[in-house]
Amino acid sequence: MPIDPDFQKKRKKVGKEKGIAIWGPVDPPEKLGIYGTYIAIDWDICTGCGVCLKVCPQQLYEWVETSGHPTSEKKAFPARELDCGQCYKCETKCPEQAVRIVYPPLTAWLNFLSYLFVLLMPAQVIGGLIYGALFGPYLGLKIPFYVGWVVLVVGLLLLFSSLLYFRKRGEPVRGRSLMCTTFLVDSGTYAIVRHPQFLGIVLLPCASILISQHWLTAIIGVPIIVLLFIFVQKAEEALALKFGDDYKRYMQRVPRMNLLLGIMRLLRRKWEKVNH
Ligand code: SF4
Ligand code: SF4
Repeated sequence: MPIDPDFQKKRKKVGKEKGIAIWGPVDPPEKLGIYGTYIAIDWDICTGCGVCLKVCPQQLYEWVETSGHPTSEKKAFPARELDCGQCYKCETKCPEQAVRIVYPPLTAWLNFLSYLFVLLMPAQVIGGLIYGALFGPYLGLKIPFYVGWVVLVVGLLLLFSSLLYFRKRGEPVRGRSLMCTTFLVDSGTYAIVRHPQFLGIVLLPCASILISQHWLTAIIGVPIIVLLFIFVQKAEEALALKFGDDYKRYMQRVPRMNLLLGIMRLLRRKWEKVNH
Protein backbone atom coordinates (compact mmCIF):
# COMPACT_ATOMS: atom_id res chain seq x y z
CA MET A 1 0.00 0.00 0.00
CA PRO A 2 1.59 3.33 -1.01
CA ILE A 3 1.58 6.41 1.21
CA ASP A 4 -1.83 8.10 1.29
CA PRO A 5 -1.53 11.28 -0.86
CA ASP A 6 -4.28 12.89 1.26
CA PHE A 7 -2.63 12.10 4.58
CA GLN A 8 -2.69 15.77 5.63
CA LYS A 9 -6.50 15.79 5.39
CA LYS A 10 -7.11 12.34 6.85
CA ARG A 11 -4.53 12.21 9.65
CA LYS A 12 -3.76 14.42 12.64
CA LYS A 13 -0.42 15.86 13.64
CA VAL A 14 0.54 14.12 16.86
CA GLY A 15 3.95 15.61 17.54
CA LYS A 16 7.33 16.69 16.18
CA GLU A 17 10.80 15.17 15.90
CA LYS A 18 13.62 17.71 15.44
CA GLY A 19 11.07 20.16 14.00
CA ILE A 20 9.58 17.59 11.55
CA ALA A 21 5.86 16.88 11.95
CA ILE A 22 4.59 13.38 12.81
CA TRP A 23 1.17 12.37 11.48
CA GLY A 24 -0.66 9.70 13.51
CA PRO A 25 -1.90 7.25 14.45
CA VAL A 26 1.25 6.28 16.33
CA ASP A 27 1.78 3.32 18.65
CA PRO A 28 5.52 2.53 18.87
CA PRO A 29 7.35 0.36 18.17
CA GLU A 30 4.87 -1.27 15.71
CA LYS A 31 3.03 1.80 14.41
CA LEU A 32 5.11 4.88 13.64
CA GLY A 33 2.97 7.07 11.36
CA ILE A 34 4.11 9.53 8.65
CA TYR A 35 7.10 11.81 9.14
CA GLY A 36 7.32 15.18 7.38
CA THR A 37 4.98 17.75 5.85
CA TYR A 38 6.60 18.68 2.50
CA ILE A 39 8.60 15.47 2.19
CA ALA A 40 6.44 12.86 3.83
CA ILE A 41 7.65 9.32 4.53
CA ASP A 42 5.25 6.66 5.71
CA TRP A 43 7.44 4.87 8.24
CA ASP A 44 5.00 1.98 8.46
CA ILE A 45 5.72 1.21 4.78
CA CYS A 46 9.41 2.22 4.61
CA THR A 47 11.72 -0.81 4.52
CA GLY A 48 14.91 1.17 5.13
CA CYS A 49 16.34 0.27 1.71
CA GLY A 50 18.25 3.58 1.49
CA VAL A 51 17.34 4.47 -2.10
CA CYS A 52 16.01 7.90 -1.12
CA LEU A 53 19.23 8.72 0.75
CA LYS A 54 21.27 7.75 -2.31
CA VAL A 55 19.26 9.66 -4.94
CA CYS A 56 18.55 12.90 -3.06
CA PRO A 57 20.81 15.61 -4.55
CA GLN A 58 20.20 17.80 -1.48
CA GLN A 59 21.27 15.02 0.90
CA LEU A 60 18.54 16.02 3.28
CA TYR A 61 17.65 12.55 4.59
CA GLU A 62 19.11 10.94 7.71
CA TRP A 63 18.75 7.49 9.24
CA VAL A 64 16.78 7.01 12.45
CA GLU A 65 16.86 3.76 14.44
CA THR A 66 13.42 2.16 14.83
CA SER A 67 14.07 -1.08 16.74
CA GLY A 68 11.07 -3.37 16.92
CA HIS A 69 9.24 -2.06 13.85
CA PRO A 70 7.92 -4.93 11.67
CA THR A 71 9.21 -3.63 8.28
CA SER A 72 12.72 -2.39 9.27
CA GLU A 73 14.97 -1.36 12.14
CA LYS A 74 15.84 2.01 10.56
CA LYS A 75 13.85 4.61 8.63
CA ALA A 76 14.56 7.53 6.29
CA PHE A 77 14.04 10.80 8.15
CA PRO A 78 13.52 14.04 6.11
CA ALA A 79 15.73 16.09 8.42
CA ARG A 80 15.91 19.27 6.27
CA GLU A 81 12.69 19.06 4.30
CA LEU A 82 12.68 22.79 3.48
CA ASP A 83 15.88 22.30 1.42
CA CYS A 84 13.98 20.06 -1.02
CA GLY A 85 14.40 21.03 -4.67
CA GLN A 86 11.27 19.06 -5.69
CA CYS A 87 13.16 16.85 -8.15
CA TYR A 88 10.83 13.91 -7.26
CA LYS A 89 13.73 11.42 -7.43
CA CYS A 90 13.00 9.99 -3.98
CA GLU A 91 9.25 9.74 -4.65
CA THR A 92 9.64 8.05 -8.04
CA LYS A 93 12.49 5.70 -7.00
CA CYS A 94 11.17 4.52 -3.62
CA PRO A 95 10.33 0.84 -4.22
CA GLU A 96 7.63 0.89 -1.54
CA GLN A 97 6.01 4.17 -2.69
CA ALA A 98 6.45 5.38 0.86
CA VAL A 99 7.42 8.96 -0.12
CA ARG A 100 5.15 11.87 -1.07
CA ILE A 101 6.47 15.28 -2.08
CA VAL A 102 4.03 18.06 -1.22
CA TYR A 103 4.30 21.60 -2.55
CA PRO A 104 4.95 24.09 0.24
CA PRO A 105 2.08 26.61 0.40
CA LEU A 106 2.63 29.88 -1.49
CA THR A 107 3.46 32.92 0.61
CA ALA A 108 0.36 35.08 1.29
CA TRP A 109 1.32 37.75 -1.25
CA LEU A 110 2.14 35.21 -4.00
CA ASN A 111 -1.19 33.55 -3.30
CA PHE A 112 -2.95 36.90 -3.65
CA LEU A 113 -1.08 37.63 -6.91
CA SER A 114 -2.06 34.20 -8.30
CA TYR A 115 -5.76 34.82 -7.60
CA LEU A 116 -5.48 38.27 -9.16
CA PHE A 117 -3.85 36.73 -12.22
CA VAL A 118 -6.49 34.00 -12.60
CA LEU A 119 -9.26 36.61 -12.39
CA LEU A 120 -7.77 39.26 -14.68
CA MET A 121 -5.99 37.29 -17.40
CA PRO A 122 -8.99 35.56 -19.12
CA ALA A 123 -11.08 38.75 -18.88
CA GLN A 124 -8.35 40.86 -20.47
CA VAL A 125 -7.45 38.40 -23.24
CA ILE A 126 -10.92 37.20 -24.21
CA GLY A 127 -12.48 40.66 -23.78
CA GLY A 128 -9.82 42.34 -25.94
CA LEU A 129 -9.99 39.71 -28.68
CA ILE A 130 -13.80 39.79 -28.86
CA TYR A 131 -13.78 43.60 -28.91
CA GLY A 132 -11.17 43.71 -31.69
CA ALA A 133 -12.87 41.01 -33.76
CA LEU A 134 -16.33 42.58 -33.49
CA PHE A 135 -15.61 46.32 -33.60
CA GLY A 136 -12.09 46.54 -35.02
CA PRO A 137 -9.20 48.39 -33.32
CA TYR A 138 -10.33 51.22 -31.00
CA LEU A 139 -7.58 53.53 -32.30
CA GLY A 140 -8.02 52.40 -35.89
CA LEU A 141 -4.35 51.42 -36.35
CA LYS A 142 -4.33 48.63 -38.92
CA ILE A 143 -0.69 47.42 -38.75
CA PRO A 144 -0.64 46.86 -34.92
CA PHE A 145 -4.05 45.18 -35.33
CA TYR A 146 -2.66 42.58 -37.78
CA VAL A 147 0.59 42.24 -35.81
CA GLY A 148 -1.60 41.46 -32.76
CA TRP A 149 -3.14 38.44 -34.51
CA VAL A 150 0.34 37.17 -35.42
CA VAL A 151 1.46 37.66 -31.79
CA LEU A 152 -1.61 35.73 -30.65
CA VAL A 153 -0.80 32.76 -32.92
CA VAL A 154 2.88 32.75 -31.84
CA GLY A 155 1.80 32.90 -28.17
CA LEU A 156 -0.60 29.97 -28.55
CA LEU A 157 1.97 27.92 -30.47
CA LEU A 158 4.61 28.51 -27.79
CA LEU A 159 2.17 27.65 -25.03
CA PHE A 160 0.92 24.40 -26.56
CA SER A 161 4.33 23.28 -27.82
CA SER A 162 5.78 23.79 -24.34
CA LEU A 163 3.05 21.62 -22.79
CA LEU A 164 3.74 18.96 -25.42
CA TYR A 165 7.47 18.96 -24.66
CA PHE A 166 6.84 18.82 -20.92
CA ARG A 167 4.75 15.70 -21.46
CA LYS A 168 7.17 14.12 -23.96
CA ARG A 169 10.57 14.94 -22.49
CA GLY A 170 10.03 16.03 -18.88
CA GLU A 171 8.81 12.64 -17.63
CA PRO A 172 6.27 14.19 -15.25
CA VAL A 173 5.41 12.20 -12.14
CA ARG A 174 2.43 9.97 -12.91
CA GLY A 175 -0.84 11.31 -11.52
CA ARG A 176 0.61 14.80 -10.98
CA SER A 177 0.44 18.04 -12.99
CA LEU A 178 2.62 18.40 -16.09
CA MET A 179 4.77 20.86 -14.15
CA CYS A 180 6.02 18.03 -11.90
CA THR A 181 8.78 17.06 -14.32
CA THR A 182 11.67 14.83 -13.30
CA PHE A 183 13.97 15.73 -16.23
CA LEU A 184 15.21 19.09 -17.42
CA VAL A 185 13.53 19.82 -20.75
CA ASP A 186 15.96 21.70 -23.01
CA SER A 187 14.87 20.68 -26.50
CA GLY A 188 12.19 21.90 -28.90
CA THR A 189 10.95 25.36 -27.93
CA TYR A 190 12.95 24.97 -24.70
CA ALA A 191 16.12 25.11 -26.84
CA ILE A 192 15.10 28.63 -27.93
CA VAL A 193 13.96 30.15 -24.61
CA ARG A 194 13.93 28.72 -21.08
CA HIS A 195 10.26 29.58 -20.48
CA PRO A 196 8.28 29.18 -23.71
CA GLN A 197 5.13 28.57 -21.65
CA PHE A 198 5.47 31.89 -19.80
CA LEU A 199 6.46 33.69 -23.00
CA GLY A 200 3.37 32.22 -24.67
CA ILE A 201 1.20 33.48 -21.82
CA VAL A 202 2.86 36.94 -21.87
CA LEU A 203 2.13 37.26 -25.58
CA LEU A 204 -1.62 36.72 -25.07
CA PRO A 205 -2.34 40.00 -23.17
CA CYS A 206 0.07 41.77 -25.59
CA ALA A 207 -2.00 40.46 -28.50
CA SER A 208 -5.20 41.59 -26.79
CA ILE A 209 -3.81 45.13 -26.39
CA LEU A 210 -2.65 45.30 -30.04
CA ILE A 211 -5.88 43.88 -31.45
CA SER A 212 -8.38 45.87 -29.39
CA GLN A 213 -6.21 49.00 -28.94
CA HIS A 214 -8.56 49.83 -26.07
CA TRP A 215 -7.20 51.66 -23.01
CA LEU A 216 -8.93 49.17 -20.71
CA THR A 217 -6.97 46.19 -22.10
CA ALA A 218 -3.74 48.17 -21.60
CA ILE A 219 -4.61 49.14 -18.01
CA ILE A 220 -5.38 45.52 -17.08
CA GLY A 221 -2.76 43.94 -19.39
CA VAL A 222 0.34 45.75 -18.15
CA PRO A 223 0.00 44.56 -14.48
CA ILE A 224 -0.66 41.02 -15.78
CA ILE A 225 2.58 41.11 -17.76
CA VAL A 226 4.46 42.42 -14.69
CA LEU A 227 2.93 39.60 -12.59
CA LEU A 228 4.09 37.03 -15.13
CA PHE A 229 7.65 38.31 -14.90
CA ILE A 230 7.48 37.95 -11.09
CA PHE A 231 6.27 34.34 -11.53
CA VAL A 232 9.11 33.63 -13.98
CA GLN A 233 11.65 34.91 -11.47
CA LYS A 234 10.20 32.61 -8.78
CA ALA A 235 10.17 29.68 -11.23
CA GLU A 236 13.84 30.31 -12.08
CA GLU A 237 14.83 30.13 -8.40
CA ALA A 238 12.89 26.87 -7.93
CA LEU A 239 14.36 25.30 -11.09
CA ALA A 240 17.93 26.22 -10.14
CA LEU A 241 17.35 24.42 -6.82
CA LYS A 242 15.67 21.46 -8.52
CA PHE A 243 18.14 20.82 -11.36
CA GLY A 244 21.30 22.34 -9.82
CA ASP A 245 24.34 22.73 -12.13
CA ASP A 246 22.46 21.37 -15.17
CA TYR A 247 20.09 24.31 -14.92
CA LYS A 248 22.94 26.79 -14.48
CA ARG A 249 24.56 25.49 -17.70
CA TYR A 250 21.18 25.67 -19.45
CA MET A 251 20.85 29.31 -18.28
CA GLN A 252 24.16 30.15 -19.93
CA ARG A 253 23.12 28.47 -23.18
CA VAL A 254 19.52 29.60 -23.59
CA PRO A 255 18.00 33.04 -22.81
CA ARG A 256 15.10 33.36 -20.39
CA MET A 257 12.37 34.70 -22.71
CA ASN A 258 14.08 36.71 -25.48
CA LEU A 259 12.78 34.92 -28.57
CA LEU A 260 15.02 36.65 -31.15
CA LEU A 261 18.18 36.12 -29.11
CA GLY A 262 17.11 32.50 -28.51
CA ILE A 263 16.65 31.84 -32.24
CA MET A 264 20.04 33.45 -33.04
CA ARG A 265 21.81 31.36 -30.37
CA LEU A 266 20.09 28.19 -31.54
CA LEU A 267 21.16 28.83 -35.15
CA ARG A 268 24.72 29.55 -33.99
CA ARG A 269 24.82 26.29 -31.99
CA LYS A 270 23.56 24.35 -35.01
CA TRP A 271 26.07 26.10 -37.31
CA GLU A 272 28.94 25.31 -34.89
CA LYS A 273 27.83 21.68 -34.70
CA VAL A 274 27.80 21.32 -38.49
CA ASN A 275 31.19 23.04 -38.88
CA HIS A 276 33.12 21.19 -36.18
S1 SF4 B 1 13.39 4.64 -0.61
FE1 SF4 B 1 11.44 4.34 0.40
S2 SF4 B 1 11.61 2.35 1.42
FE2 SF4 B 1 13.68 2.97 0.88
S3 SF4 B 1 14.44 4.04 2.72
FE3 SF4 B 1 13.55 5.60 1.40
S4 SF4 B 1 11.43 5.80 2.07
FE4 SF4 B 1 12.22 3.89 2.91
S1 SF4 C 1 12.37 15.54 -4.16
FE1 SF4 C 1 14.55 15.50 -4.72
S2 SF4 C 1 15.46 17.09 -3.44
FE2 SF4 C 1 13.45 16.65 -2.56
S3 SF4 C 1 13.84 15.11 -0.99
FE3 SF4 C 1 13.32 14.01 -2.86
S4 SF4 C 1 15.27 13.57 -3.83
FE4 SF4 C 1 15.65 15.15 -2.30
